Amino acid sequence: MKEMQEYQLVCRLCRETTVVKADPDDIRKWGTGTLIQDALPYLPKGHRELLMSATCDSCWQELFPPMDD
Ligand SMILES: [Zn+2]
Repeated sequence: MKEMQEYQLVCRLCRETTVVKADPDDIRKWGTGTLIQDALPYLPKGHRELLMSATCDSCWQELFPPMDD
């Protein structure tokens, strides 16, 4: 098991800080063109969204509510 690093990500909308733990090598892979779901498959979808768009899970839900009703 590799050493995970903590990344403090601030949501651009609500300014909440979320701590995401990821392998720095995987972050680098993502940074060099690997799809985030392939580079960081172990992160919850909300955390990947936060890395990509600086929008936390709850703000994301508000912007794009689930379509199931
Ligand atoms: Zn937010």
